[in-house]
Amino acid sequence: MKVAIFPGSFDPFTVGHASIVERGLPMFDRIVIGVGVNDKKRSFYDPEQRVEAIRRVYANEPRIKVVAYNDLTIDLVRREGAQFILRGLRSVKDFEYERDIAAMNKRLAGVETVMLFTEAHYSDISSSVVRELIAYGKDVSAFLPQPAQTETNLLK
Ligand code: ADP
Repeated sequence: MKVAIFPGSFDPFTVGHASIVERGLPMFDRIVIGVGVNDKKRSFYDPEQRVEAIRRVYANEPRIKVVAYNDLTIDLVRREGAQFILRGLRSVKDFEYERDIAAMNKRLAGVETVMLFTEAHYSDISSSVVRELIAYGKDVSAFLPQPAQTETNLLK
């Protein structure tokens, strides 16, 4: 059974994230979306809202599980019996950071990271830009998967 962890802050989960999950599904038997909770960093949405929003998106996809975690991604990898970490690469800005984290995770836990290049039409979409737009009252519905916005009150 091939299991991948897709870790991130997902604050909030965007159509760019959803595209990585969708493209990862044919490669793995199961994907566990790990919502990272950092007690020292204040988030825009609280962890429960983020988890709930993503669960709604994948309510009909039994191969996807959504969990919150507040330790290292490699700890989540071990708990879930995963062999892979899935990440998206938007630009060269992401590259060096991702390469270092992937190398460290391989060193510490023997886990391989699979990187997918972002589809060009999603490369400008980031959670931080979406948060900024929400803060200024702009419509961000084009950037969030539909089930996530309708029922979770993500658009506060
Ligand atoms: P983190 O805080 O760990 O960077 P994010 O929630 O920002 O987490 O992103 C999680 C993963 O999704 C990362 O691998 C990131 O590169 C990827 N990602 C973010 N936005 C996009 C996008 N628009 N298209 C594809 N992948 C993306």
